[in-house]
Amino acid sequence: MQTVDVLVVGAGLAGLRTACLLARRGLSVLVAERRRSLSAGIRTTGIFVRRTLDDFPLPGHLLGPGIRHVLLYPPSRRAPIRLTSDRDEYRVADMAAVYAHARDAALAAGAGVLLGARYLGFSGGVARFAGAGPVRAGFVIGADGARSRVARDLGLDVNTRFLVGAEIVHPIASGTSTPAFHCVLDPRVAPGYLGWVIDDGRHAHVGVAGYPEAMRAGVRHLLDAFAATAPGRAAAVGPVERRGGPIPVGGVLRRLACPAGLLVGDAAGAVSPLTAGGLDPCLRMAELAAAVTADYLRTGDRRALERYDGVALRGRFRGRLLLRRAFGGLRSAAAAEAAVHVLRARPGRALAARILFGDGSFPDVR
Ligand SMILES: Cc1cc2nc3c(=O)[nH]c(=O)nc-3n(C[C@H](O)[C@H](O)[C@H](O)COP(=O)(O)OP(=O)(O)OC[C@H]3O[C@@H](n4cnc5c(N)ncnc54)[C@H](O)[C@@H]3O)c2cc1C
Repeated sequence: MQTVDVLVVGAGLAGLRTACLLARRGLSVLVAERRRSLSAGIRTTGIFVRRTLDDFPLPGHLLGPGIRHVLLYPPSRRAPIRLTSDRDEYRVADMAAVYAHARDAALAAGAGVLLGARYLGFSGGVARFAGAGPVRAGFVIGADGARSRVARDLGLDVNTRFLVGAEIVHPIASGTSTPAFHCVLDPRVAPGYLGWVIDDGRHAHVGVAGYPEAMRAGVRHLLDAFAATAPGRAAAVGPVERRGGPIPVGGVLRRLACPAGLLVGDAAGAVSPLTAGGLDPCLRMAELAAAVTADYLRTGDRRALERYDGVALRGRFRGRLLLRRAFGGLRSAAAAEAAVHVLRARPGRALAARILFGDGSFPDVR
């Protein structure tokens, strides 16, 4: 039976980054992933915010052009509010290439990556899989996404509040669009969140997300309805890919660690409750998770785990959780139309610019 210091379940950005950092600290690490290929079943748009690009080395060739313009549309789609930054605020990544890059970095650091291995459970220090043999591990890291099975097995907290998102991605002829982020506030297609159109210069991403209980027609149907009339969408010139999945927006979970393991990324609820961005939190939390895990395994002192404190992190989200509640409360087209109207005035534009272009998407946990 294979034996490792740390088993990481899930080869998303959180799992691969944490594994890489642990292996660099000299621990034996295995990442187990149920997907057979990291370029299949991608669930994210891949919008990286400026703060992430400033703080973490992501090679430029994995990223689309910088985006400085955001257009915020009311449900009527008339007269969008145009917000322009004097810096590049967003870049959309080729996520298949980002995962390949993160996997290569983990492998180069000495971690193992096992694909096609679906985690089934962990007990007595042994993890069981469908598609692979059992693995004995001193510590397990749940990087297995929003509905983490590892969290349940370790008796840690689990996410309970979700948006569900779906998008279509298709190639566009290069140069057919001006890089811009089109956001449509329309509870009829995206109750509690937004419809969006954004492109990376080569692909257009058209998506919607909202509270599942309010999406009576189903997310796929709403996405198709939105895509048919979405603003700023360039024509498809090739095959269409569909992506989607749950997004935990209840804030960072309180109980994130125990002597048998800990949680990172979506499994930890590490998503900005307001913007639903989770890529920046993945990278930030991975650093703390790796430092705490290495410290704990080196010393055997359980107090090391207290630094991985969901309660303290959660406290830094109070404002964002409140704004999420207000945002989620916009359940009619008339209310959303009125909200966009309020945002047209100077204080409203300042608030929107702060949310969209500010540095506050996720606290620095390093
Ligand atoms: C439609 C959509 C669009 C989004 N767009 C953006 C965006 O543009 N920018 C942004 O910042 N955030 C975005 N998010 C959120 C962001 O993508 C996530 O927060 C982030 O990708 C989470 O990464 P993760 O590694 O924690 O989880 P995931 O990327 O979900 O990785 C979890 C991995 O665990 C694997 N796994 C699960 N169960 C098992 C098991 N039993 N055994 C083995 N493996 C398992 C999964 O296959 C997966 O590979 C979006 C989310 C959605 C749904």
